[in-house]
Amino acid sequence: MNEYDSNRIGDIVKDIGYEKSKDQNNADCYVINTCHIRDKAKEKVFHEVGRIKKNYSNKKKPIMIIAGCVAQAESEEILKREPFIDVVIGPQSYHKINKILDNFQKNKKADETEFDTISKFDFLENVKNSDNNVSSFLTIQEGCDKFCHFCVVPYTRGPECSRPFRTIIKEAEELIKNGAKEITLLGQNVNAYNFYQNDNEFKISNLLNELEKYSELKRIRYTTSHPVDMTEDLIECYKTNKKLMPFIHLPIQSGSDKVLKLMNRKHNVEHYVNIYNKLININPSIKFSSDFIIGYPGEEKDDFEKTLKLVNEIKFINSFSFIFSSRPGTIASKLKEVDEKISKERLIMLQSILFKNQINHNKSLENKEIDVLVENKISGQNKYFGRNEYFNSVIFEADKKDIGKIVKVNIENSNQNTLFGKIKNNMKAA
Ligand code: SAM
Ligand code: SF4
Repeated sequence: MNEYDSNRIGDIVKDIGYEKSKDQNNADCYVINTCHIRDKAKEKVFHEVGRIKKNYSNKKKPIMIIAGCVAQAESEEILKREPFIDVVIGPQSYHKINKILDNFQKNKKADETEFDTISKFDFLENVKNSDNNVSSFLTIQEGCDKFCHFCVVPYTRGPECSRPFRTIIKEAEELIKNGAKEITLLGQNVNAYNFYQNDNEFKISNLLNELEKYSELKRIRYTTSHPVDMTEDLIECYKTNKKLMPFIHLPIQSGSDKVLKLMNRKHNVEHYVNIYNKLININPSIKFSSDFIIGYPGEEKDDFEKTLKLVNEIKFINSFSFIFSSRPGTIASKLKEVDEKISKERLIMLQSILFKNQINHNKSLENKEIDVLVENKISGQNKYFGRNEYFNSVIFEADKKDIGKIVKVNIENSNQNTLFGKIKNNMKAA
């Protein structure tokens, strides 16, 4: 979502004569768009600002803006601690950047961290999305009302807010005109998307089915989804929607019901496994990935073993796993943490299984022809980058004219993160 937001900031400032600089070391204005989900984010911000500051010691000072969730959560401290920073803008206020820059030039420091989601989206409706990537992001929903006890999102991104259905479709049309062949719908809880107009309810399933109608669009994805919002209409899309990719990022966090309850997750393991089974029954080739938090306060050996059991049963092909990071203001931040050494050992154990499954999945694609959407040429190499249906990275020999096409690639080898191969000549898939 930060990538989407950064692109939109780039679109907005065009109106006052700014454009994205190609030179990281020579810019009139820097915007650092930050994430606050785990600890150390704030320190990374000060480190990055320090790096830029050093580079400008004998040049005209650029305007330094900190945007995103760290700005939202730590605005006062940021401005106090580093005078080189001029402006902080929260994720729901970035549409005001032009006015803020104008005020700043009139010598005012700015702290803009109001929650104003609707007016942000209203404002963005009139700003053309210039993203011209083959695979583009499109935010449909923001914020969260679920308040998992470990998570800062409800505090930094604010309450759940869904964009109007027609506005999303209009922006998708812009992206398709710009050359998008794949669109990933985004939201902190993307499948909680819910918009009412004239007594009509629009859900994510309606968006997926509407997007399917655009012939130039070849692939549709969405992320990140929550198990509680995997409703029947969304599951049904996997039977009917030909462009919906057979890969679902569906975080479970832990394989222990006790820990899920402590986390305030609002689902248990059985609920998750039921969704998994329903989807696998519809299409056995659907693959899953997940997020895991290890060492959550109260996680005991037996709870952790349940997580190991789960990942031995469901062969996630790609997952994010981290040790619990205490976030200021959350309920979990007041709880007694699991010993760091134990958490580290557990994480290593979990990751060894997750990585083995990931490697096995990649190996299973070797010596096979797979459909790859060609995204771009890799800079400095005579190779191209694309992704298969399961969102695996693929690096292969191709031609410039293949960019934007789905081609058949013969996979010759693989490692944990990437598949390598060659385009099968005269075997274009689409
Ligand atoms: N809304 C999605 C869900 O609940 O399934 C996930 C979105 S959340 C922004 C992304 C991931 O960050 C979570 O799934 C969780 O694993 C991780 N995360 C959030 N807070 C964390 C914390 N305090 N410590 C470690 N990981 C955390
Ligand atoms: Fe955070 Fe996801 Fe929980 Fe919302 S549902 S609080 S975004 S982890």
